[in-house]
Amino acid sequence: MDSNIADRLSREYSNLWEETMHELPNGWITPLVAMLDKLYVLSDIERSLSFDAEGLATWVDIRVEVSAICAAAYATPLRLAGKWNPARALACVEALSEFAGQCSETCSVCGQAGALRMPNFGDAVEGVLCDEHNAEAASNVDHAAELYNECRILFPGVHGKAIDLHGIPDFLFDLVSRSLRTIKEVVVDEGSLEGRVLITKLEMVDGQLHVRHTYNDISNASVGALVEIDDAIRFLESRSDELTRKYQMEGGSDATS
Ligand SMILES: [Zn+2]
Repeated sequence: MDSNIADRLSREYSNLWEETMHELPNGWITPLVAMLDKLYVLSDIERSLSFDAEGLATWVDIRVEVSAICAAAYATPLRLAGKWNPARALACVEALSEFAGQCSETCSVCGQAGALRMPNFGDAVEGVLCDEHNAEAASNVDHAAELYNECRILFPGVHGKAIDLHGIPDFLFDLVSRSLRTIKEVVVDEGSLEGRVLITKLEMVDGQLHVRHTYNDISNASVGALVEIDDAIRFLESRSDELTRKYQMEGGSDATS
């Protein structure tokens, strides 16, 4: 979620906030707040038991686990077993369960009604998304797949996740497309370079674009063509670093999200 929202919630619910809640996408903030409100009431019941400044009795430690398709909350009781009663225990379990249930039907991007999307069911991406964000994700995927197919002579036959065009964030996608097309043009024009210039790595690692390439048996290639390819790759690397810094300074805390 956005850092400013996380900061605010961590202050408002300081006795319940836990850093794992920061990992939740923006669309799941409403289910989170609903759960925190219920647990806050639980904490508020017996102010007389408390010794902390806000006068709240903190009954549980909450931890959240999140993936693209679900979120779950876990509670560790802090009060002695004898202090709990059935109604309070049930209220706590219900709050956790409603949180997981609401996330499973809420778009993780925008918070509107959503549904589980899985590639196995014919969806383009995995996640809990509304129709609009599902369509948007599908068009992004096609975008990356088209570019991959168009430039596939530049990639080794087997590469696994080392070539990951789907992981390229929007703000770098144009740059990557232009660079790959430029390199492909040089390779095709030069004829003898086909299959001999290979991009062996093109993926986001810790928010930075990593690019590697190899040359094999290029003795017949013109120096001019090789210089052009080197230049295109160097430009891609330096410009992507610049764009990433700019993106992060403008408020994107993680260039891959
Ligand atoms: Zn949505």
